[in-house]
Amino acid sequence: MAQIFEANTPVIGVGGKPGAGKGTRLSKFLKERPGEYIDFSVGTLLREDVKNSTDLGKEAKKYMDAGELVPDELIMRIVSKAVSEADKPVIIDGFPRTVAQAIAAINSGMNLVKYVEVYVPDEVVVQRAADRLCCKQCGETFTKQSTFKRPKVEGVCDKCGGELGIRSDDEPSVVLKRLKTYDDETAPVVKVLEEADVPVVRVNGDGDNNPNVDEDFARAMSV
Ligand code: AMP
Repeated sequence: MAQIFEANTPVIGVGGKPGAGKGTRLSKFLKERPGEYIDFSVGTLLREDVKNSTDLGKEAKKYMDAGELVPDELIMRIVSKAVSEADKPVIIDGFPRTVAQAIAAINSGMNLVKYVEVYVPDEVVVQRAADRLCCKQCGETFTKQSTFKRPKVEGVCDKCGGELGIRSDDEPSVVLKRLKTYDDETAPVVKVLEEADVPVVRVNGDGDNNPNVDEDFARAMSV
């Protein structure tokens, strides 16, 4: 885990419970700021490796399907590579997700300038996962019941025409396990970052109760 960052590329970590909507918030934020950031989602990179059956993907799949976190060593490899190649500020969706990752980031000299946590209650996470469909080809997400983002043609991705299905880690038992994993392994990250003087900002991500969620998110992201 000992990658040392020579470039001082600023990195913003974005976290929150699985299904808190960090991906949705981020894609809106980035759409309004084209070309300003390099952004990637650790989960999406992992799913690509799983789809392509790389060695890393085969290893990661076992943990992802069980609602567990992928080992820190693998995550630090993916994240370090992406950050060291970046020539603009970087936003990482889903990092750091464990205390070990937070410590590794700080000790390796990563210029972690902020951590933004999107918060929603557990009930909302469970409801959203039950309502989510995902393209098997490109990973784009849609809703099953709620009108928020229904596909134009049932079962077909608007973006690439791929088949829509349920993401294996959105199965109800896996969602509950992922919430427990979050409480046990990710929630303590905040304290570690604060102790290392990394600013942590929490945003109420429950759109039904916070109509200003996107404005709040944009304010939280500014450095
Ligand atoms: P996400 O798309 O962010 O919900 O991530 C999907 C899955 O990828 C998670 O449930 C974990 O198994 C894995 N994952 C994503 N980010 C990390 C991380 N920083 N550390 C460990 N596992 C991760």
